Amino acid sequence: MTEAEGIVGEFNSLKADSDADVLAMQVGDFYEFFDEDAKLVGEELDLKTSKKSSGGVKYPMAGVPVSELTPYLKALVERGYRVAVADQRETESGHVREITRVVTPGTLLDVTDADARYVAAVVEDDGVYGLAFADVTTGQFSVTTVDDEDARDGALTELYRFDPVEVLPGPRVREDDDLLGTIRDRTSATLTLHESSAFAPGQARHALTEQFGAASLESVDIEAAATVGAAGAIVDYVEETGTGLLASITRLQRYGDAAFAELDSTTQRNLELTETMQGGVEGSLYSVLDHTVTSPGGRRLKSWLQRPRQSRDALDERLASVDALTGAALAREELREVLGDAYDLERLASKATSGSADAGDLLAVRDTLAVLPAVEEIIENAPRLTDSPLRAIAERPDRERAAELHEALDDALAEDPPKTVQEGGLLTRGYDEELDELIERHEELERWFDTLDERERRQYDLRHVSVGRNKTDGYYIQIGKSAADEAPDHYENVKTLKNSERFRTDELAEREREIMRIEERRGELEYELFCELREQVADCAETLQDVGRALAEIDVLASLAVHAVENDWTCPTLAAPGEGIDIEAGRHPVVEQTTDFVPNDLSLSEQRAFLIVTGPNMSGKSTYMRQTALIVLLAQIGSFVPARSARIGLVDGIYTRVGALDELAQGRSTFMVEMQELSKILHSATDESLVILDEVGRGTATYDGISIAWAATEYLHNEVHAKTLFATHYHELTTLADHLDRVANVHVAADERDGEVTFLRTVRDGPTDRSYGIHVADLAGVPGPVVDRSNTVLQRLREEKAIEAKGSGGGGSAETKQVVFDVGSGQMTAASTDGGDAATADAADSGETGGSDPLTEQFGEDAADVLDELSAVDVAETSPIELMSAVQEWRERLDD
Ligand code: ADP
Repeated sequence: MTEAEGIVGEFNSLKADSDADVLAMQVGDFYEFFDEDAKLVGEELDLKTSKKSSGGVKYPMAGVPVSELTPYLKALVERGYRVAVADQRETESGHVREITRVVTPGTLLDVTDADARYVAAVVEDDGVYGLAFADVTTGQFSVTTVDDEDARDGALTELYRFDPVEVLPGPRVREDDDLLGTIRDRTSATLTLHESSAFAPGQARHALTEQFGAASLESVDIEAAATVGAAGAIVDYVEETGTGLLASITRLQRYGDAAFAELDSTTQRNLELTETMQGGVEGSLYSVLDHTVTSPGGRRLKSWLQRPRQSRDALDERLASVDALTGAALAREELREVLGDAYDLERLASKATSGSADAGDLLAVRDTLAVLPAVEEIIENAPRLTDSPLRAIAERPDRERAAELHEALDDALAEDPPKTVQEGGLLTRGYDEELDELIERHEELERWFDTLDERERRQYDLRHVSVGRNKTDGYYIQIGKSAADEAPDHYENVKTLKNSERFRTDELAEREREIMRIEERRGELEYELFCELREQVADCAETLQDVGRALAEIDVLASLAVHAVENDWTCPTLAAPGEGIDIEAGRHPVVEQTTDFVPNDLSLSEQRAFLIVTGPNMSGKSTYMRQTALIVLLAQIGSFVPARSARIGLVDGIYTRVGALDELAQGRSTFMVEMQELSKILHSATDESLVILDEVGRGTATYDGISIAWAATEYLHNEVHAKTLFATHYHELTTLADHLDRVANVHVAADERDGEVTFLRTVRDGPTDRSYGIHVADLAGVPGPVVDRSNTVLQRLREEKAIEAKGSGGGGSAETKQVVFDVGSGQMTAASTDGGDAATADAADSGETGGSDPLTEQFGEDAADVLDELSAVDVAETSPIELMSAVQEWRERLDD
């Protein structure tokens, strides 16, 4: 068998043993891909493929140098492939190749962006969903159980919140095509089918006990079989990838519903927390609020926004810290400056445990560990900060251990270490005696070689002599051609070049052997010592994670303080749930950045729990409602808020339903989506929730819409008792305030003079009297005649008078078709030509009075049909869109 066949054969059999999509196999200094895999990487990564032919068979192959595999791995994994890596090892009987790791989206460590990369597992058991999320880049591991009525929805919300890069569906979830489809749509995750047995409660619990120890497993107290299955499966999976990443996962965190306020995925999107409805980051609350100086800080702020808390104690502590930081400008800036030197410790800890950290990474660990005492010192020296909970945050990690590790690294690492571990020069003098001796001897030998030419020149009176070293010849003495004859006898000629001769001597050869021995030993020893050091860092992973988290938290708190100071925000007063919400001169945190914002008050209480918000289109209803939700949310992450004052009774969840722009773009039925969202709110909200409804029932016929909005209002008011803001264009609903105790009307005021509307942006008590829709049509550039005609129609509707439909016949002979919308019955009826006063007036406009001849005679069959259809339309039961398209169609038929 030829070498090529052997290698391709070996490749194929290794590949068959793995469940990876692609295999990279080390062959000497290269990682090679063969056959299908070579084609795939060639196409995906623009890698040059060549053909290796052997025994009449041609194999495509592609390769990358060993030192350059990482970026290719990353690119493949980011395209969703699982890549196995087989390394080559020397043994006494030759090369051995075996798969050492399988890299997948969730286990890719070498990431450059700041976002967390979660691998998630989701398991369903008897209607209960268990979810586990592990971020191997930081070691964060969280599990939760969702077991309420809408467990499936809840599970999706969690998945959406964590936005994993890889999802392991449990055995039953795999059969739920619908759920898998939604996961595919809503996240950018790769779905991986891990062995079913890993999800089984027994095996899963075993894996968890191995990883976290029985005690911590017990203290975390995960009971649900689904959750145990999900958590255990991830542990098993990460282990199986062989990437060594498991060691970074040290702590199991369970989060339950009680700690956090509910914020479903729809609401996260509607409130544009981390991205806007259009999908951009710019313009989101996060983009406005983020002044963090480290990437872990940014990550933390994001997760706070997505998971507002319910615990008043925890929030009061955060607020006290932010408050202290707002009042200590100098110390705050100092803090941010030193925090700016911090690297991503949680990630570095993971790299150390997986053995992929290089000297630069260890230096980064060292430097970041130095940040903590600097932070402590700043806190100690600023009395406002000393007395705040910040101090406890900084003191939370095991500082002694951190300091020891810092010292160890500082003693060991050279200041400017080389990029790769193999190069030498990683460690300082004085760190290890043997190493020092080797270095000294090495330097002595180097000096000997450096001065050799000088000595030889003097001793043998040589001209044009120099000493060099290269890979093939080793060390040599080189003499220019013209002087080569003068070489002493003991010089052994080893090479003749064009202009010179190369020689060696016994002494030179001996010293060369020694220097090579020393170089080898020095390399080995340095590497050994470095690995020990890395091991030492890995042993401190948990401490490093704690330090990283503490620094991230302080970064977020300082960022919140910066924003509060710069934007004149105020510290909210938190109150018990159910105590209502009182905001004085509140603003929208994002809109206020770009607009001369008009602040507004808001008061929701037990007695006044449901506000119906009316006002012209574009007057600011949505903004008012969203700002309320955002102020509550900000208070519940422990931030100051954009208001003159705010008293916030904590809510257990924020639910929103707003105009579904994005769903429209996705081609889903808006009305269906609207109703699903409404249904979710009516099911899930409680008397401690905040509900924001921005129009309900618009997507259907008017009477349907009003009925649904009406009934939903009654239900929220009578059964749910949630604090609710409901913006509607159905003025009929404003009368509900007269009949339901806790419902009140507010409106966003506008001023109308001489037909010009000025938006005042001020929210006042009471309902508006109309919607100013025609004014907006005018603003939007709808043609003048249509605007004028709308005004006439509106006027007649208000006066409850019949309106006739204007139309003109074909063939140039203008004619009025007289159809009347009867407000009383809501029906369109054909009017008699000698009908009402308006009809006469309009008929006169058209320049001809209708004669007695029937329409059919004038316009043919079509006109009569159209008229029939027109009469049959039930306006109250037809949506405006349908009406418009029907009118369009009739017109086309009549034009014909
Ligand atoms: P509506 O929901 O009534 O149609 P929006 O809330 O969408 O109106 O507001 C329309 C526009 O008015 C928005 O672009 C917003 O920037 C601006 N706006 C809303 N409220 C205010 C305010 N209080 N101060 C200044 N501008 C506002």
